[in-house]
Amino acid sequence: MSVERPSRELRPAVFLDRDDTIIVDVPYLADPAEIRLLPGAAAAMGVLRRAGFVLVLATNQSAVGRGIITEARLGAIHDELERLLAEQGAALDAIRYSTHAPPRGDRLSVEDPDRKPAPGMLLGAAREMGLDLESSWMVGDKITDVLAGLNAGCRSILVGSNATLAELPTAADPGRVFAAADLAAAASLILLHREAPAAAAPSEVP
Ligand SMILES: [Mg+2]
Repeated sequence: MSVERPSRELRPAVFLDRDDTIIVDVPYLADPAEIRLLPGAAAAMGVLRRAGFVLVLATNQSAVGRGIITEARLGAIHDELERLLAEQGAALDAIRYSTHAPPRGDRLSVEDPDRKPAPGMLLGAAREMGLDLESSWMVGDKITDVLAGLNAGCRSILVGSNATLAELPTAADPGRVFAAADLAAAASLILLHREAPAAAAPSEVP
C-alpha cells in the first residue's frame, strides 16, 4: 500500500556556522552571558530570511563531547543566542549541533557523520525541513565549514580571516566556493548569485 504524499516545494537554505560567523568566538563558550553577536550578523540574517532562505545553524560543539559543558548548558547558550537575535529582528529556523569530540589528527577528514567537515547536520536538516541543497549555501570561518557545505552539495562561503581558501585540500571549483569579509558580505554574494540566472535568461525580445 502506498500513501500519496503531497508534494512540497523544496526551499533554499543558508547553513550558518556559529563561532566567528554569527558570534564572537569564545573557546568552549560555557556562559550564555558571554555571547556577543558579531556586528552586522543579525541584519545579514534578516536580509537572507526575507529573501526566502531558511536559516539553519550548524555548529560543532565538541565541548559537550569532551564533558566541558553539558548539553543542557549548550541549550541555554542557544536560547540566549536566539533571544539576542530576536532583539535585533533576526531568527534561526533551526539549530543543529554535533557533540562529537574528535581525537587528534587531520581535522579536514571526516571523523563522524555529523561533525563538520561531514555533511550530516546539513543533510539531516534538508531531509526534515524540505531543503534544496543544490540552491543552498554554507557560511563559516573555517575550511571545515567550507568542506561541509561542499560535501552536502551546497555552495560555500568562507568568512573572516581565520582561514584562506588556499588551505582547501583540493583545488576548489571556482563556481562553488567563495570568500567574503563577513556574514553581511556573504549575504550580498548569495543574493547576487541567486539573481544571476534570471539576468542570464534568454531575452524575450524577438
Ligand atoms: Mg566557526
